[in-house]
Amino acid sequence: MDKKQKDKALLDKFIGVYCRKKHRTDGMLCADCAALKDYAFEKLDKCPFDPKPKCKECTVHCYAEPYRTTMKEVMKFSGIYFVKRGRLDWLFKYLMR
Ligand SMILES: [Zn+2]
Repeated sequence: MDKKQKDKALLDKFIGVYCRKKHRTDGMLCADCAALKDYAFEKLDKCPFDPKPKCKECTVHCYAEPYRTTMKEVMKFSGIYFVKRGRLDWLFKYLMR
């Protein structure tokens, strides 16, 4: 699995948890979260940097509103969820790369 695929798998997890817990969906993403995921995947595919820098340190800031705000919320929400469930490894992998 290459790095972009790993990033996608992680995004998928984060958005999945967020939608399930916050929007009370079951297995399927709601329309908003599905759109966010599509958007995030597209951005990832089009990222001009190789290797991709941490978004925080990136100069492009490619996410446009409202996706930018929503994604921050997703990361925070799901980050806390994974910490509570002892899945710090995922979070660290995401933040420390
Ligand atoms: Zn949702």
